[in-house]
Amino acid sequence: MCKPLIAGNWKMHGTTDSAVTLAGQLSATWKASAVEMILFPSFVHLAAVREAIAGSAIALGAQNVSQHAAGAFTGEISAEMLVDQGCKYVLVGHSERRALFGESNETVAEKFKAAQGAGLTPILCVGESLQQRQKMQTVEVVTDQITAVIDAVGLDNVCRAVIAYEPVWAIGTGETATPEQAQEVHRAIREQLGDLGVATTLLYGGSVKASNAAALFAQPDINGGLVGGASLEAEEFLNIAQSIEA
Ligand code: PEP
Repeated sequence: MCKPLIAGNWKMHGTTDSAVTLAGQLSATWKASAVEMILFPSFVHLAAVREAIAGSAIALGAQNVSQHAAGAFTGEISAEMLVDQGCKYVLVGHSERRALFGESNETVAEKFKAAQGAGLTPILCVGESLQQRQKMQTVEVVTDQITAVIDAVGLDNVCRAVIAYEPVWAIGTGETATPEQAQEVHRAIREQLGDLGVATTLLYGGSVKASNAAALFAQPDINGGLVGGASLEAEEFLNIAQSIEA
């Protein structure tokens, strides 16, 4: 069985106060269910959010991780540090990291390996640009991004992580893949993973809102969502989460 998840990526938004308020609103309402909710605040808000969700059904995650275990890497955060902060999950290969910070498929694979080695569950983000989609390269791009990680850690380890398909053209743009477009790519990912991937959780991300979530999450190979902008508003995010069928 794939574990249904709803993940909120808060990106570089908010203050300690606003993060704690939002986490408090969510934890007061969200009850333990088959669907797991995960919050991804900025690094500096991890401890405060951890306190705000303590005792609730919500898990904590980080938005990025270093590929290095320790050492002279100024400004970096290791996987072990994230575990120490109470994180259970970490995003790797978010398209903003790939596009704005030059993370290659190989770097993403190293980060995945470091995260999993420390006991975190990586959420591997993959997705094509608009240009790549227009050139009909979507499945090739996405499967290449996943292959780079399979080559580094093995198929079995990729299958016990989470994969989020996030078309780059849909992130933060208000443009959403249609349920059919999203399902087509999720199906290709499921096929790439083969028998080992039947229970791998696959998320969709890209301008998910309460108004489009149910149709996306009703697709057979979509097991939940990775939500950016709409996760910053408690009621909207809860409505999205509630539309996942467990
Ligand atoms: C994201 O940041 O992963 C994301 C999907 O953002 P948005 O929902 O704002 O498109």
